[in-house]
Formats: sequence, C-alpha cells, structure tokens
Amino acid sequence: MNPYRLYALRLSARREVSPSFVRITLRGDDLATCSDILLDQRVKLLVGSPEGLAEVGASVEDWYPAWQDIADERRPAMRTYTLVAVRPGSDGSGEVDIDVAIHPTDGAAPGMDFAATAPLGTPAALVAAEVGRDGYEDVGVAWHPGDATEVLLAGDETALPAIANIAGTLGPGVRGRIVLEVPHPEDTRTIAAPDGVVVEWRIRERGERAVGLFGGREETDVTDDGDLLWDEARGAAGWYGWIAGEAGWVRELRAEARTAGIPRGQISFMGYWKRGAVGA
Ligand SMILES: Cc1cc2nc3c(=O)[nH]c(=O)nc-3n(C[C@H](O)[C@H](O)[C@H](O)COP(=O)(O)OP(=O)(O)OC[C@H]3O[C@@H](n4cnc5c(N)ncnc54)[C@H](O)[C@@H]3O)c2cc1C
Repeated sequence: MNPYRLYALRLSARREVSPSFVRITLRGDDLATCSDILLDQRVKLLVGSPEGLAEVGASVEDWYPAWQDIADERRPAMRTYTLVAVRPGSDGSGEVDIDVAIHPTDGAAPGMDFAATAPLGTPAALVAAEVGRDGYEDVGVAWHPGDATEVLLAGDETALPAIANIAGTLGPGVRGRIVLEVPHPEDTRTIAAPDGVVVEWRIRERGERAVGLFGGREETDVTDDGDLLWDEARGAAGWYGWIAGEAGWVRELRAEARTAGIPRGQISFMGYWKRGAVGA
C-alpha cells in the first residue's frame, strides 16, 4: 500500500509569521493518522474548485488517477509543501500547519493565493504519509544524514520550514553550519540547533546571497539543462550536506560544491521550485 493518502481539510486559521511567510492551519476529521515525521517530508496541498476537491476527495487511496481524470476547469491545483506541525487532535478533529512563502508572481499562484486570501472554511486536500503504513517514515524524506557528525544545511525561504524542522532533531554533539537566504531581515527567526551548529542568515534585500558559501566555482556553464535537479545523497560517518531552493540557485551551489571537491555521495541538491515555472 502506498504510504501516502489523501485527507480532506478546511482552512481554519492563518497568521502572518513575517513579511514573506503566512502560516496556514488546516483542520480535518481523520488527521490522527497523519505522519508527524516533519523533517523535510514532502506533502501535496490541493486547492481550487470545491467540486474538483469533492471529486478527488472521494478517492482517499487512488487520489492521483482521480485527480488526473478531473476536467481541466475543475481540477484542483497541486503544490508541494513541508508540514511544520501536526496536531492529531483528541476529539477526532486534527490540524496541520504549513508555512507558505509569499512570493512575487506575474499571474496566478494557487498555493500562495490560497494561503494569503482564501476565506477561512475554504476546502482543500492534503496528500501526506499515514502513520503505520509500510515506509511512511522514509517516503518523501531526503534528509538522510546517517552517522554524520558534521552537517551543512542551506536553503532559500521555501526550504526554511524543512531546515527548521531538521535543525530541531540534530543531536547535541553535531557540528556544522546552516545558511538561510530570505528576502527581508524580518524573515529571520530562531532556529533550534545545537551549540555546535552555526546559523547564518543571508538577507536578499541587502544583496546578501548564499551562493558563494563554498567559495566560488570554476565550472562556468551552469545553464539550465532542463533536469529536475533532484540529487539525493545518503550520509555515512563524517560530513553530510543538504541544499534546497530555487533550481538555478541550487545549480550554482552544486557547481561550487564540485569546485570545492565535495564528493557527490555526501550532499543532496534539490530544486524546490523553478523561476518562471509553475510548481506541482
Ligand atoms: C519538497 C518541497 C517542499 C516545499 N516546501 C515548501 C514550504 O514548506 N513552503 C513554501 O512556501 N514552499 C515550499 N516549496 C516550494 C513550493 O512548492 C513552490 O514555491 C510552489 O511553486 C509554490 O506554488 P504557487 O502556487 O505559490 O506558485 P506557482 O503557481 O507554482 O508559480 C507561479 C509563479 O511564481 C513563481 N514562484 C513560485 N514559488 C516562488 C517563490 N518561492 N519565490 C518566487 N517566485 C516563486 C513561479 O516560478 C511562477 O513564475 C516546496 C517544494 C518542494 C519540492
């Protein structure tokens, strides 16, 4: 059985966390079984026409073919996010929180538009791993540090929720570096990391970038080769790296890491979104 299933939810709260983040709360009747692994475990949020959501919601298990079969004008938009909290609830009504980045766009951006403007009570659906299903703790998780004792985590605002989740799980003896690039100074927040892990913020508004963190690159051609840019590595003893954010930005950092001689098998590179392309 696929570890993922669909949960029918309604938007129950929103609050501005900082200029670039809205935290939305979604409530549902059967979230008691929703995976609370958090880390960087990915989930899908489906938003859009109530009729389309009802159609896909009728198929808790076979939601994907059901979603594909819905007529274009009713098919809900699907976007990928990271849960920042799961509250299973004792009265049958649970909640999840998602931190959604508020970003510039030339047109519609269904995930952000839902988070920023949908009236409370608006239906949505979440595709998330279910506790107890085979593989639920591993599915959609790219953070595999193994026995690494030194780590590097770097991301833009879309990876901040995952990095904050992961930082809170690092053991007290772990050393390393977390580099977060966000739009504004007010987007910084407390990251619960062990003493040996230094948290560095790069504020885009001030012209600060995370690109360059490996000390520059020799490779001159880092043009988009059209790939999805999803290189997952599994750590072992020693050093382990994890980098996620805009695909072109991640590609630059990958070229730098290669110049710095970091072995491919010790660092993951994930394009969380691509400038000019709609997400899924
Ligand atoms: C595993 C994974 C986990 C993720 N977790 C989160 C998360 O927790 N929170 C979060 O906010 N995002 C997260 N993302 C990124 C998110 O899925 C994308 O940003 C998505 O494209 C947003 O959808 P949208 O409907 O707002 O915009 P889309 O309809 O996808 O895009 C509309 C336009 O906006 C641009 N755009 C999209 N995102 C951004 C951005 N962040 N900054 C600037 N321009 C943008 C697009 O290039 C396009 O031009 C995650 C992605 C992955 C793969």
